[in-house]
Amino acid sequence: MEQAMRGFFLYLSRNKALTKVAKKYGLQFGAKRFVAGDTINLAVDVIRGLNNKGLDVTIDYLGEFIESEEEAMEMTNQCIEAIQAIGRESIESQLSLKLTSLGLDLSSDIAIQNMKRILDEAETNGVFVTIDMEDYSRCEKTLRIFKELKTKYDNIGTVIQAYLRRTENDMKELDAYEPNLRLVKGAYKEPKEVVFPKKQDVDENFKKIIEMHMLNGHYTAVATHDDKIIEYTKNLVLKHNIPKEQFEFQMLYGIRTEKQEELVKDGYRMRVYVPYGTDWYGYFMRRLAERPANVAFVLKGMSKK
Ligand code: FAD
Repeated sequence: MEQAMRGFFLYLSRNKALTKVAKKYGLQFGAKRFVAGDTINLAVDVIRGLNNKGLDVTIDYLGEFIESEEEAMEMTNQCIEAIQAIGRESIESQLSLKLTSLGLDLSSDIAIQNMKRILDEAETNGVFVTIDMEDYSRCEKTLRIFKELKTKYDNIGTVIQAYLRRTENDMKELDAYEPNLRLVKGAYKEPKEVVFPKKQDVDENFKKIIEMHMLNGHYTAVATHDDKIIEYTKNLVLKHNIPKEQFEFQMLYGIRTEKQEELVKDGYRMRVYVPYGTDWYGYFMRRLAERPANVAFVLKGMSKK
């Protein structure tokens, strides 16, 4: 049942028509729980509130299904506006983005040019930029672009997904770039040949790559809401004396808020991923796919309207 629901919401998340309709109607169906608002000003207020609680942030201007160079340029401008707002408002925040929103599906060159504009502005404002990892069909291109940009920029990182079979090899190849990586389980519906089919195997691979990356001495963001993985990480850093400056935990805005604050109280660096913008639909559907309890929350919210 859970698997069927997951598939259903991931299917909905890829629906272009619904994405367009949702954009027109503003944040609906409880999406506000997971999305900071539709403007950068609302996002800044949320970031400031989180910073005041000792939480670090990475913001993400939401955008899916970019079909023209102009749309990719507009997304780039929005990212630059976000970076300038971070600098101007003196708030603590990094930026996360997706290469498809910068035109990856049109051409790698367009995405690279847009990335360079963003990274130049980010460098000026002291902002770190993480390239989110999308579905498997974009993984190879994303890693190639990351490697190319990493040779020119220090303020860039990317994401590695534990559910992919290719991941361990990717980590070995990335090692020479001394990358700052966010490690996650993986959020997309993928062909079964390319992923570990059992959740238990994904979790074991997750632990394996956390250990690999930390012991290689590179900065590691462990992005999960899973207590077992958080405990594993805490024990690993204790065992190997890994300094607190070499790693952080990350969680999504609106998920396990108390746990986020508890980690800060215990002295860990904790970063919250804060999405904003009018294009909330696909992101929201992926969150529903991850956890049936989120669906119950939404239904409750709808019945109150
Ligand atoms: P799950 O296996 O989903 O959950 C494990 C356990 O965590 C649950 O059993 C429960 O105990 C607890 N839990 C989970 N959710 C809740 C909740 N709502 N309330 C209470 N307890 C809960 N994926 C990508 O593919 N690409 C990316 O670039 C990417 N970036 C991400 C960035 C961040 C900061 C985060 C946190 C996730 C990102 N993801 C990304 C999503 C990720 O791949 C997973 O889909 C998502 O994090 C769910 O997996 P999980 O590790 O939290 O554990």
